Amino acid sequence: MAKQGIRSLSVDGLRQWVISAGQPAYRAKQLLAWVYNGAASFDEMTNLPADFRSRLAEEFILDEAVEISRLESAKDGTVKFLIELTDGQCVEAVLMRYKHGNTVCISTQAGCKMGCAFCASPPAGYARNLTPGEMMSQVMLAGRAAGGRVDGVVLMGIGEPLDNYENTITFLDNLSSPEGYGLSLRHVSLSTCGLVDKIDLLAQRRY
Ligand code: SF4
Repeated sequence: MAKQGIRSLSVDGLRQWVISAGQPAYRAKQLLAWVYNGAASFDEMTNLPADFRSRLAEEFILDEAVEISRLESAKDGTVKFLIELTDGQCVEAVLMRYKHGNTVCISTQAGCKMGCAFCASPPAGYARNLTPGEMMSQVMLAGRAAGGRVDGVVLMGIGEPLDNYENTITFLDNLSSPEGYGLSLRHVSLSTCGLVDKIDLLAQRRY
C-alpha cells in the first residue's frame, strides 16, 4: 500500500491518528512540532520513542515533493524551483525575497483546466489535483532555501486553487494552525480566475 503524506492529514486528523496508535496525547504535539518545523526524516525526531518512529516511517512520508532543479535570478535572488511529486508529475514554485520577508508562490494542481488565454500552464494539460501535503512540501522546500521559514504564501502557481477546494482548505488550515505551520492567513493570498460557488463557500468559512 502506498504511504500517505503526513502533511496531507489535517492537524486534528494527525492528532487522532497518534491516539489511535496507542500513544499519549502529548506525543501528537511533539510530532506536529517536528512535522511543521522542517524535519527531513522521522529519524531526526529523537524525543519520540524508536518504535513509534518506525511505525511513522512505515505509514507515512514526510515530503511529497522534491526539488529537481532551480533557477536563481542574479538581479533580486528570486528562485524558481522545478519540483517532482511522488508519481513523477512536475510543478513549479517560486521563492521571492522582499525587504519585508520571503514569500513563496505555490502550485495547487498539476496542470489546469481553466484555459485562461494569457497563461502558459494550459498547453501542458490537466493531470490531477495536488494533495495538501504536496502544497505544504513546496512551503517547506522554499523555507529551507530561505534559511528557515517563509513569511508569506501566495496560491498563484500552476492550477486553480478553488478547483481543488477540499485539499486547498486542508492546506490553509494546516498552514495557519498554531500547531501546524503557524502562519497567519493575513500573510496568505489566494488567486482565483473566479469560481463563484467556491468563492461563496470560502467566504462562509469566515477566516
Ligand atoms: S487558473 Fe491560473 S493556472 Fe489555470 S489557466 Fe488560469 S491563470 Fe493559468
